[in-house]
Amino acid sequence: MSKRRDQRRMGRALALAGLNQGLTGPNPSVGCVITDAAGHIVGEGVTGHGGRPHAEEIALEEAGARARGGTAYVTLEPCRERSSGAPSCSAKLVNAGIARVVVAVEDPHPTARDGIRVLREAGVGILIGPGARRAARRYAWFLAKAGN
Ligand SMILES: [Zn+2]
Repeated sequence: MSKRRDQRRMGRALALAGLNQGLTGPNPSVGCVITDAAGHIVGEGVTGHGGRPHAEEIALEEAGARARGGTAYVTLEPCRERSSGAPSCSAKLVNAGIARVVVAVEDPHPTARDGIRVLREAGVGILIGPGARRAARRYAWFLAKAGN
């Protein structure tokens, strides 16, 4: 997978995140793009109004079985745990058979953080950084709050 393609896909995920900016309550608006194993986009999502569902859930639902062996581009680290007790996005990405996850910025939130660790332990390839500057600017308020 080329670096330029990663940048382009993450650019698309950031554009999706922008659609619901300011509409997702206390949660940041996250964008997610999922490609199949061949690199074709098969699912897209943005955090729902009020913060649910999460972007990854929407994109995974659209992608269905085509997500197997594919890549997920997410503007913020996928959550490790949900306050509701529902399956986390990290678990859902693993269960869907996603082979690789590209993340713009890591999530410092105490419950959500470490999604990347969960994915790594499940054998998913991780790349952090494409789109990081834009994402850090977009999530500055959230990153500052959650880091305390
Ligand atoms: Zn999530």
